[in-house]
Amino acid sequence: MFIIDCPWCGKRDISEFSNGGEAHITRPKRPDKMSDAKWAEYVFMRTNHKGQIAERWNHAAGCRQWFNALRNSATDEFLAVYKMGEKPPEVTTQEPLTPSGEAPIGSGNDAVKIVKSGEVS
Ligand SMILES: [Zn+2]
Repeated sequence: MFIIDCPWCGKRDISEFSNGGEAHITRPKRPDKMSDAKWAEYVFMRTNHKGQIAERWNHAAGCRQWFNALRNSATDEFLAVYKMGEKPPEVTTQEPLTPSGEAPIGSGNDAVKIVKSGEVS
């Protein structure tokens, strides 16, 4: 069972929630003045990296409130939840946050290796 801690209702099953995509993306103030390329970048381009991400979630089958969550996209672990308009809380985790230890940026990027101090690459 996968549990999400709604800031208003408390811990509930994930089946009550819907994901709203990446958080902290601000809609442009004057889209009519933007080029098609810039508009497409706003609409479609997301960081989509592996590791800690900030997402919007909606408690659709509960209080229907939107909130933000920090989640590890590699392990599906929810690291924190916070209300809209609030800054993301500091989360103390160890990098990399991926189960196999590869770099958090780039899904399946085997060419990038993290070299720890004292190790020979
Ligand atoms: Zn709720």
